[in-house]
Amino acid sequence: MALASTANTSLDFGPASALSCRECGTRYDLGPIFACAECFGPLEVAYDFGPVTREEIAAGPTNIWRYSKLLPVPGNVETRPNLQPGWTKLVKADTLATELGLRSLYIKDDSGNPTHSFKDRVVAIALEAARNFGFHTLSCSSTGNLAGAVGAAAARAGLDSCVFIPSDLEAAKITMASVYGGRLVAIEGTYDEVNRFCSELIGDELGEKWGFVNVNLRPYYAEGSKTLAYEIAEQLGWRIPDQIVIPVASGSQLTKIDKGFRELIKLGLVEDKPYRVFGAQAEGCSPVSTAYKAGHDVVQPVKPDTIAKSLAIGNPADGPYVLDIARRTGGGVEDVNDREVVDAIRLLARTEGIFAETAGGVTVGVLRKLTESGTLDPEAETVLLNTGDGLKTLDAVAAEARPAAVIRPSLAAFRTAFAN
Ligand SMILES: *Cc1c(COP(=O)(O)O)cnc(C)c1O
Ligand SMILES: [Zn+2]
Repeated sequence: MALASTANTSLDFGPASALSCRECGTRYDLGPIFACAECFGPLEVAYDFGPVTREEIAAGPTNIWRYSKLLPVPGNVETRPNLQPGWTKLVKADTLATELGLRSLYIKDDSGNPTHSFKDRVVAIALEAARNFGFHTLSCSSTGNLAGAVGAAAARAGLDSCVFIPSDLEAAKITMASVYGGRLVAIEGTYDEVNRFCSELIGDELGEKWGFVNVNLRPYYAEGSKTLAYEIAEQLGWRIPDQIVIPVASGSQLTKIDKGFRELIKLGLVEDKPYRVFGAQAEGCSPVSTAYKAGHDVVQPVKPDTIAKSLAIGNPADGPYVLDIARRTGGGVEDVNDREVVDAIRLLARTEGIFAETAGGVTVGVLRKLTESGTLDPEAETVLLNTGDGLKTLDAVAAEARPAAVIRPSLAAFRTAFAN
């Protein structure tokens, strides 16, 4: 942690000016630190934004770097090897909207990123921090998607990688976490145990020179999720939606989407207006939803048991901030069970031709539940986030998505089968 107190003039974080504690406001020089020395609160990036216009952004590249003036990255970030994530589709989901009884629904489909989840956004920002700090190994504790995103980003950037996952993940996620050539370590334990182990590793000489994207680089990593807010607003014609439904694992993504909307308002890039933020969890790992419904400010850790493994964080670091945002914006946090997750994956596929992973099933399931309970306003413009690709969690639906018939290649056989 010695780097924290030494202002390093060769660092280039663009408009980012400092790290500041989200609890007590103490400021620190930009460094590979993540917790406040005064109160142990989480640190986040503070900025000194220059002028930014819609036109300038619109003329930028069709990836997250069109917003580089709003991110902790150097001005020449585009010229450095990276996966260029972002600018994924915002799909108008009229069939699903009609089926659910909503007037206007969009799906921000982040399965369209290079490694098929929203994690490419956060890793791209953490990669720039790792380069700034001279780290040669990218690392992470992961519920699956992050490990693949880190492996791919490191390969592209010419860095080493060493990623840590719980050993019971889906086969596709294990394969993706390994195929990019870095080191994959599977740990017999939950994600929360993997994460605790990584914190230990940072304190040991084995890992002290590593950039753990979601641990010692977490303040930078987290900023990548702001790009979802920027893109949604720009793709709606520079407008913030009335309601947004976001999956919650650690809660980082939801927290930073809210930060992104507030920045756009402050910078005058969108009109100031109220918006409601809803969090989505799986019943088998719903510590934030449970706290929300009980009216608590504190999130009680749980031991996860759900098919939505990418959301299976039992002790979510940003849980209390999710509660704050849900309450401040008049939103909420809801959960659905595994059966509802599978039904929702199939509903989204059948109505919009989008095959989501289990996290997407959780989000669509919660959208349905909130609509049916009258919590969501059916007349309001609603955006739903699909954060990952169904090909990574095939087992969730494989037993139900089967051939209608298995026949010999003959008309007679087809007629017989078709008649049934
Ligand atoms: C990591 C992840 C999330 C949630 O991320 P947090 O920022 O930790 O809340 C959502 N969906 C998918 C598919 C993920 O991999
Ligand atoms: Zn503090």
